[in-house]
Amino acid sequence: EPVEIQEMLEEVIDRFSFQLQQRDIRINLNIEPGMPLVSCDPDQIDQVLDNLISNAIKFSYEGGLIEVTARQLDQEFVQISVKDSGIGIPQRHLERIFERFYRVDKARSRNMGGTGLGLSIAREIVKAHGGTIHLDSEMNKGTTVVFTLPLHREEGAAV
Ligand code: ATP
Ligand code: MG
Repeated sequence: EPVEIQEMLEEVIDRFSFQLQQRDIRINLNIEPGMPLVSCDPDQIDQVLDNLISNAIKFSYEGGLIEVTARQLDQEFVQISVKDSGIGIPQRHLERIFERFYRVDKARSRNMGGTGLGLSIAREIVKAHGGTIHLDSEMNKGTTVVFTLPLHREEGAAV
C-alpha cells in the first residue's frame, strides 16, 4: 500500500523522544523534498525502523547524534539510512550481524535488553518487499544501516 515515508519516520522518532531526551541524544531527520510514496506494509516497515532507531540509540554515547535520511535512489527505489556515531561493531562481526540471535558481545549487550532478533527480522521484511539492507560500521566511530524500498506505482502508469 502507498505510504508517506516522512510521516512514518516522524512517528517512529516521536516514540523515542523520552529516551532521546534522557540520554541527550539528538536525531536529525533529513528528507529529500518531493519524496515519492513508497509501496510497503506500514506495520512491518514500522518494525524495521523501530529496531534500527532503537539500536542506534542503545549503542550511542550520551550527547550523540543520529542521522536519519530518506531519498529517492532511482526510478524504482527509495533509500533510507540510519546513521549513529556510537560504539560501532568490530569488523569481524559484520558478516554475521544479520543472523538470528547474533549479538556482538554479551558483556556490552547484557544490560541493553533485546534478543538479537531485530536485524534478522529487519532483513526478512526488507527482502520480502524486494529491497536490500546493508550495515556498515567502524569501531568507536559509528554504524550506518541503509535499506531500500520500492516506489509506489500508480495503477496503469507507464513502466
Ligand atoms: P532486539 O533487536 O531483538 O531487541 P538486539 O538489538 O540486540 O535485540 P539486533 O537489533 O538484531 O538485536 O542487533 C544485533 C546486535 O548487533 C546487537 O546486539 C549489537 O551487538 C549489534 N548492533 C546492532 N545495531 C548496532 C548499532 N547501531 N551500533 C552498534 N552495535 C549494533
Ligand atoms: Mg535491536
